[in-house]
Amino acid sequence: MPKIYFIDVTNRDGVQTANLGLSKLEKTMMNMYLNKMGVFQSEFGFPTTLHETYYLQANLELAKMGVLKPIRLEGWIRATTTDVETAFRLVPNIRHLNLSISTSDQMIGGKFRGTKSREDIIMMMIDAVEAAHSYGAKSIGVNAEDASRTDIDFLIKFGMAAKDHGAHRLRYCDTLGYDNPFTIYKAIRKLAETVGIPIEAHCHGDLGMAVANSLAGAKGSLDGGQDAYINTTVNGIGERAGNADLVATVLAITKSKEFAEEYQLGRPIDLTKAWRIAKFASYAFNVPIPLNQPGVGSNAFAHASGIHADGVLKDPENYELYNFAELGRGDPELVETGRQICSGEYGGISGFKHIMGKMELSFKNSDEAREILELVRYANVEAQRPLVKDELRFIARYPQIAKKLLTLKPLDNEI
Ligand SMILES: [Zn+2]
Repeated sequence: MPKIYFIDVTNRDGVQTANLGLSKLEKTMMNMYLNKMGVFQSEFGFPTTLHETYYLQANLELAKMGVLKPIRLEGWIRATTTDVETAFRLVPNIRHLNLSISTSDQMIGGKFRGTKSREDIIMMMIDAVEAAHSYGAKSIGVNAEDASRTDIDFLIKFGMAAKDHGAHRLRYCDTLGYDNPFTIYKAIRKLAETVGIPIEAHCHGDLGMAVANSLAGAKGSLDGGQDAYINTTVNGIGERAGNADLVATVLAITKSKEFAEEYQLGRPIDLTKAWRIAKFASYAFNVPIPLNQPGVGSNAFAHASGIHADGVLKDPENYELYNFAELGRGDPELVETGRQICSGEYGGISGFKHIMGKMELSFKNSDEAREILELVRYANVEAQRPLVKDELRFIARYPQIAKKLLTLKPLDNEI
């Protein structure tokens, strides 16, 4: 029976969003949290972008060390042989790629300005898929950008060509958030049935339907006899109105009426990690969690009106669809109201030892403490805000990896 898998794209769609971004350490922490949560794959970055190089290599090293395991780390590039070559030159150990190309007449005409035909698009994609194979890619997803505005017969042809040349998945990108649950179900089901390859649903929230469309898209692939992959971002952060929110989508899949009885996840998701990952993303992106956000918003389990409060006190199931503890909520959080010692780019050894001591982290000797402090300072230069405990723990535990992540010396294209 085909199953549902999550591919989180916070470290690609999320970070390319206007006015927002993450440091390389923050991106790494996202991968760590996603891994702990049971997400199948993280689209962890841009292998052709020079300032990503050390970050991507360091994260692949973490995977090799068994730290980022079993999550699959996959890079996003354009479907061109040049991008494939550059990706493998800069990040030779990369094994999972998604190759993206526009498929709608609007974009083919509007972006390539009459220099490319539909056939050219298919040829470019085939060449890129073959190149990725020749460099040793283990899994290749092919992204049809603007799939929702693409002629379905052309999309089928495109998908067939991708499959024939060894692509493993087809990403159906509702790039502009144009679909609704009925149209995306129909399109993805047809693709799954005719192309015979797992389909990824990549949905945006321009019409407020990213989560609903993801659910319907997944159902389309499953009913078409194929595994379904859903693209999400943490807190729904992504281009314009954002992507399908990871936590809300997991809740929709596992808690909505009748869905979980019929369809199954390919890998269990540990929802108790939801609170922590949402809070971290909010802090790192510097974007507050809306109070009405499903599961993790401050009002998600708040009741004031007489009838609701009375009802929930008698039996939570009267007014709550799921329990807060399932999302990792309920522990009191300590907020310092007096003196605060935080990490900073100009921090010294005494304050640093105080912070680490409070977390019950000690060092072998003062040389080691100074080495970690230096790395923490660099992390602060990049983040421009105090580091959270999980970041400090990460740096103390994996100093060599942290050193790589924090290396941002401008590179020439020849490394
Ligand atoms: Zn997108």
